[in-house]
Amino acid sequence: MPQFQPVTPAIVELLAEIVGSEHVSTRRADLDQHSRDQGSHPAHSAEVIVWPGEATQVARALALANQHQIPVTAWGAGTSIEANPIPLRGGILVSFARMDKVVELHADDFQVTVQPGIGYKDLNTYLARHGLFFPPDPGANASVGGMLANNAAGIRTVRYGATKDNVLRMQVVLADGRLITVGSRSVKQSAGYDLLHLFVGSEGTLGLITEATLKLTPIAQAIGAAVAPFETVDAAVEAVVALRAGGLEPAALELIDAFSAQMLAANNGLDLLAAPTLFVEFHAANAGALEYSLAAAQEICEEFGAIRFHATADAAERRTLWYARHHAYETMVRTHSGQQFFINDVAVPISAYATLLADIEAERASRGIAAYLLGHAGDGNIHVIFPFGNEDEYRQSQELNGLIVERALALGGTSTGEHGVGASKSRFMPAEHGPALDVMLTLKQALDPRGILNPGKIFP
Ligand SMILES: Cc1cc2nc3c(=O)[nH]c(=O)nc-3n(C[C@H](O)[C@H](O)[C@H](O)COP(=O)(O)OP(=O)(O)OC[C@H]3O[C@@H](n4cnc5c(N)ncnc54)[C@H](O)[C@@H]3O)c2cc1C
Repeated sequence: MPQFQPVTPAIVELLAEIVGSEHVSTRRADLDQHSRDQGSHPAHSAEVIVWPGEATQVARALALANQHQIPVTAWGAGTSIEANPIPLRGGILVSFARMDKVVELHADDFQVTVQPGIGYKDLNTYLARHGLFFPPDPGANASVGGMLANNAAGIRTVRYGATKDNVLRMQVVLADGRLITVGSRSVKQSAGYDLLHLFVGSEGTLGLITEATLKLTPIAQAIGAAVAPFETVDAAVEAVVALRAGGLEPAALELIDAFSAQMLAANNGLDLLAAPTLFVEFHAANAGALEYSLAAAQEICEEFGAIRFHATADAAERRTLWYARHHAYETMVRTHSGQQFFINDVAVPISAYATLLADIEAERASRGIAAYLLGHAGDGNIHVIFPFGNEDEYRQSQELNGLIVERALALGGTSTGEHGVGASKSRFMPAEHGPALDVMLTLKQALDPRGILNPGKIFP
């Protein structure tokens, strides 16, 4: 465990020289605001917050922190679930809120270079004017830097991949303040070690991302969605596998359980049955291709016992549907006043998805625990969301979470499909990685020998 030094008034003054005194704060309100993410992990605050305006300032701040062995934690939008951006060992919190610009649009290359603090929703609003979009879609109002650092994914991964599949080049500041560029703007890259993807998903433990060139996708000419409830989760999952095997390439393929469907119907005015339900979206080159995909999806869903199938190419109806799905968590929070939530996140190969869901349901029912299941079914990812109102309910959710992770690992999956490890999942890393975890530690020690970057994360 590294012996960190406290942030002294002299350090605060040096930081103020680097970023400007108006962009440094030790105010309690600011520290509190950056002391917890959206998960249920206890709060912990930094000693000082800095809001750099450019990469060289980040580099100078890190060189200073490294010299004095002061912990540094990056902060994007703070929407993580696993305590990823919580400054557990105090020190300096680097917020990227001011570094939120589009640096350059390379429209002819379907690329954009951005600063890390830009929200992906804001980026997509800007790109829409150019007929382009950045596909990864975690739903919450995340920053691009936080998405890269967590390798966020979301509902569109089934077609367009996770964040790691949509980045080409990054500028990164190392722990000692060196500013390096990893990757290039070429879509094909074969020059040496793939450092780009070493930093993606490293949760700010290996370096801080100060710029990124992202891959873009043209906005589809025709977009449609469909909703199909099934009698059982098994039948819905069989339809998921068939939809993928049918080569229809859905842009989203989501499964919600009966409890979640009931909740969304009651609170969002959606016409949903209290049954396991698939939400599907298709992106097509023209109306004819969309019609074909929706008709083929209907045939497949009905073959696997869909109770009904409702498709729409109407943009407003589609938005209402996805708004409800995206805001399912907010709806849960609203409808369980006084309760908190624990959100689980595991992923397995699609062939094991039905087994995993059946095991989760059996354990949940036998323990009498309330939970909602929301899954990015197309890529084998499930979130089990546990409301809890007291210590005992929290403990039960943790026990079941541990069992679900064990089960996912036994089925050839992972303890986290998209939320990252943070502090909450670090205890599962030895079981998931075995000796490969030592290799990760070797890399961490090589790049951050003084252990200043986001201490307390990933490694147990
Ligand atoms: C309701 C809800 C739904 C969600 N749904 C999804 C989902 O469907 N899919 C999904 O993937 N996630 C989901 N998330 C989780 C979260 O939104 C993502 O993990 C997101 O990528 C976090 O981005 P952020 O900007 O908030 O990052 P933060 O939470 O601020 O930080 C995330 C991590 O990145 C580090 N970091 C931040 N900026 C940088 C940088 N510039 N350089 C290096 N490290 C940096 C931080 O230290 C931290 O370790 C959801 C969250 C909520 C609350």
